[in-house]
Amino acid sequence: MSQTTRKRELGRGERVLPGVWRLRLPLPWPGVPHGNAWALAAGDGIVLVDTGIHEPGSMDQLVRALDQVNLKLEHIKLLVCTHAHSDHYGQAASIVDATGCELWMHPNYEEMLKHADDPEAAVSRRIEIALQSGVPEAPLRAFMEQRKNDNPGIARVIAPDRPLLPGVEVETDLGTWSVHETPGHAPNHVCLYQPDHRLLISGDHLLGRVSLYFDVGYTPDPAGEFLHSLDVVEGLDARLCLAGHGRTFSDLQAHIEANRALVHERLDKALEVVREKGPIAPFDAAPGVYGDAIRHIPPYWWTTKMIAYMRHLEVTGRVRNVSEPGEPDKFELA
Ligand SMILES: [Zn+2]
Ligand SMILES: [Zn+2]
Repeated sequence: MSQTTRKRELGRGERVLPGVWRLRLPLPWPGVPHGNAWALAAGDGIVLVDTGIHEPGSMDQLVRALDQVNLKLEHIKLLVCTHAHSDHYGQAASIVDATGCELWMHPNYEEMLKHADDPEAAVSRRIEIALQSGVPEAPLRAFMEQRKNDNPGIARVIAPDRPLLPGVEVETDLGTWSVHETPGHAPNHVCLYQPDHRLLISGDHLLGRVSLYFDVGYTPDPAGEFLHSLDVVEGLDARLCLAGHGRTFSDLQAHIEANRALVHERLDKALEVVREKGPIAPFDAAPGVYGDAIRHIPPYWWTTKMIAYMRHLEVTGRVRNVSEPGEPDKFELA
């Protein structure tokens, strides 16, 4: 086995249903070794859903995965992105440049991609959010200094040719896919549903393994929006889920319930911490919510999640923010 294959996965393609291929594309992230793009047969070409991240060699991985299922870049007639995170949208510009295809994506991407072409501004925004949630300044700045040269994963920000909103239909050989807004994980997240085959392309909204993440700072209540988006997907009655990471899975109802239960468990714990220790900053409340597990989760993840939980408790009238202007947020029982 060569150095590269041991270190990193390679792009792989596999047919999961007639006219549906899973393209498994490598990611440079610890604990998340790959993400999925989905190729859907459509006449003499394909609709590609999601793109993989942009990094040196990433287009070769996509080409490799397509080649394994006898497809080529030139077959891509339409590119659809479930949301604007780098692992789902990062190669959009490169794919559009190479094929001339259209890009369809939900329009609530502008705020979240405002800093994608400007890593320094992106770092500043993260620092601002972290300080506001009570992260101590010195270790935060040291951490951000280390990460400031990280690959942002997006080739170039390009606008969609068509806003991917409810009512838009994606035509494929399997039938028509409808668009369902599912914000929470990201403000512009959508799922695609094919009712005849009861197939759901779920992006990162629903994964085979419960893994919560909320983009904070763009919408009023990301955790609440995520809970509502679970209801939306539950109402579709899908039979098979084609998720943004990992294998397909069929027991959607159990997955929806597990996600919902975990959000409520975190919210209940956060409320308990506020009751016992408030007024308290989201960052300081995290150990009480996550316990020992906190040592195994990157701080950026649990900080943003804690902000989302406190915000949801605030929006639903259970806690209130009592911080002075210019101070980190602090919450006590309402
Ligand atoms: Zn995502
Ligand atoms: Zn993802």
